[in-house]
Amino acid sequence: MPKPSQPPPLQATPRLGQAGETFEAPAWFGWLEMSGQGGAILAFMSILMGVATSRIAISKHLRVRSTTVSAWVGAMVKAQLVTELPSKPGGRGRPLGQLIANPNRLAVAVLMVHSQALHLVTVNLLGQEIWHDSAVVDPQGDNAAMDAALKGLQQRALVRLPQGTHMVGISYALSGLINVDAASWVFAARWPGIRNLKLTALPMPAGAALQVVRNMDAQLQARCIRRGTVGTSERTLMLHWGYGIGAAFSVNHGASVDNTTGFGEVGHWQLSNQSLRCRCGHSGCLETVAALWAIGPALLGTRFGHAMDETQAAELLRTMPLTEHPVFSQALQEVVLAACNLCRVFFPSHLVITGPFIENPGAWAAFTEAFSKRGLLVDLPLPRLEAQSSGHQLEQEGAAVPLLLDGLLQLLEPSAV
Ligand SMILES: [Zn+2]
Repeated sequence: MPKPSQPPPLQATPRLGQAGETFEAPAWFGWLEMSGQGGAILAFMSILMGVATSRIAISKHLRVRSTTVSAWVGAMVKAQLVTELPSKPGGRGRPLGQLIANPNRLAVAVLMVHSQALHLVTVNLLGQEIWHDSAVVDPQGDNAAMDAALKGLQQRALVRLPQGTHMVGISYALSGLINVDAASWVFAARWPGIRNLKLTALPMPAGAALQVVRNMDAQLQARCIRRGTVGTSERTLMLHWGYGIGAAFSVNHGASVDNTTGFGEVGHWQLSNQSLRCRCGHSGCLETVAALWAIGPALLGTRFGHAMDETQAAELLRTMPLTEHPVFSQALQEVVLAACNLCRVFFPSHLVITGPFIENPGAWAAFTEAFSKRGLLVDLPLPRLEAQSSGHQLEQEGAAVPLLLDGLLQLLEPSAV
């Protein structure tokens, strides 16, 4: 039986620097490969990512005729995606005929939930945050309170949009129960007063698209794409054990097995012999004995706050003797059991656990040991067990890139074939 192990590092991604700033650009070439896009879009990305920054370099890099490159460059310049420096002497500093991409030509607003706050981030084509603001919504808040907070953030984002930047859309990366097709936020553990919040009712900028995605799906898709051909050939089950508990599954190219309604609500499946009241309104859910919202007070005492972000919780939990705490031990056993049962449903090749608890080394060791002991069926191998650190980078990329790609296609479509 193979032993679970720590994950290999994610595929190296370009880190570009500008004026001392370091940031991680989206894994654009992986996204293009997954979507089957080439032509002018691929040429633009080669310029944007610094892979080929002249007509000749693009022609060599993509192995296309110079006349084709000329048509693409003409379209990119017309769309204000690219500036071409003069090809004759006279300019200073930069090479002749250099193509310079404008990463701020398109942007997307990504709405994410961090603890008890909504964060709206305007992201450009390089994944840079060109604007970021947040709004705390009271845990007792209802649909009207959430609606007002979302409207306020969106209006501020539009006012602060740089001149010459087109907002291609707003992407809501949400936790809880989401109806993706209906663009409805059905339920969120952090705001039990919200029910079926219609995101289609919010004002949208002219020509902008609306996208609603489960934050775990966005995270998993970006993760698979960053792992390249390895990631897109895996059957990956992601289990989040944090403030709430949820799951996502991808079988090919990071596409979720079901992205419509209610997939992965493992946090609310029922335990026997449990009667604790859950935030969803039912009793005996897994979250009542294992989610951070339920066991945080017992583990952290007065240091726990419902408004804390999971990264803050991870910092506090990291050095605690968690496995010696009976409340945590019960939680661990229940989550391991849930993970094992999910593996009997999906038979993943990889099981990725995220959230603050497993950042405690002792807790992770106990999880891997308990998971290994339970085994799968007959002599079937266990999936490879991996821990993934907390953070919002993958979620943001997974939520932003599809809309940015659509926006690029609309700008370059006539020459993209
Ligand atoms: Zn529940």
